[in-house]
Amino acid sequence: MDKLLEKLLKTAGISGYEAEIAKIMSEELAKSCAEVEEDSFGNVIGCKGSGKKKIMLAAHMDEVGFVVKYVSKEGFIRFVKVGSIDDRILPGQRVVIKSAKGDICGIIGAKPPHIQKEEERKQPVKPEDMFIDIGAKSREEVMERVSIADMIIFEPNAGLMPNNLVFGKAVDDRVGCYALLKIMERVNVAAEIYAVATAQEEVGLKGARTASFRLNPDFALALDTTIAGDIPGVREEQSALKLGEGVSICTLEAGGRGFIVSSRIRKILTETAEKNNIKYQIDVLEGGMTDAAMIYMNREGVSTGVLSVPTRYIHSPAAVFSLDDLQATIDLAVKAVEELAKL
Ligand SMILES: [Zn+2]
Repeated sequence: MDKLLEKLLKTAGISGYEAEIAKIMSEELAKSCAEVEEDSFGNVIGCKGSGKKKIMLAAHMDEVGFVVKYVSKEGFIRFVKVGSIDDRILPGQRVVIKSAKGDICGIIGAKPPHIQKEEERKQPVKPEDMFIDIGAKSREEVMERVSIADMIIFEPNAGLMPNNLVFGKAVDDRVGCYALLKIMERVNVAAEIYAVATAQEEVGLKGARTASFRLNPDFALALDTTIAGDIPGVREEQSALKLGEGVSICTLEAGGRGFIVSSRIRKILTETAEKNNIKYQIDVLEGGMTDAAMIYMNREGVSTGVLSVPTRYIHSPAAVFSLDDLQATIDLAVKAVEELAKL
């Protein structure tokens, strides 16, 4: 598997705790950008090229996860979720607490269904009734190694599957980060191209807001993941996006409460894909938003598009996507930037 992609998937960085992934993005962007800096909010911004127009490319660095809230006297850790995670997938998951003393492995525990009353069993276990077990016997033993407010991530993992598929932690949105780096290597146009690895997307698209205000771009593209529908239990009318069928061009997020593409940008993206024989799918999203929802409302408005990699099991310890779709995303972004730079 591609070493850089694997590294990005395995690195820790929940919203507001992006230092480790920001360092990697800074180092990698420095290979293609004339200038790279981390702003006071935590976004990493690289710049390449010169010209009249400014084009901003955004991919968020942060992943969903947890933070240590409290340790019981018996030595169990209570946590809060950061970002949206389905409570039903949590019990039994392996997590890593990123403590100043090093990485600590833990298991998310909950009262077993075997000893729940029938009424209790009908309800999903709430996160406040779950805990993390690191094998300690007392609060003192935990506090020797863990601090309140430490970051907790799903156990890092990544691997190849048949049909050019990849599974991993933090696919949302380290595949966007990977695309951002590859696009910056290839793009060579008469415009200022800004690569922004944004902070705190999963908790309200925050980094994109401060970065787009600062850069005040003419055009923007957000690179992210979106919901694939090609699994049992999902009807095609709920999501028609399939792994391996190409990059997703988003038209509308969260039923219109998020980003809505302009007809002009939609035409540029679809025509560019067709002209260059890049496979694409049109995405109409009922739930979920990207950095674009913030960027396109910046100042007087910014002409923006969203290119996404269709992904199964988003916000879980092991999301699945296609390397072909990731490549299509990179290819279309490079060609789209060439078109935008001409306008
Ligand atoms: Zn995302």
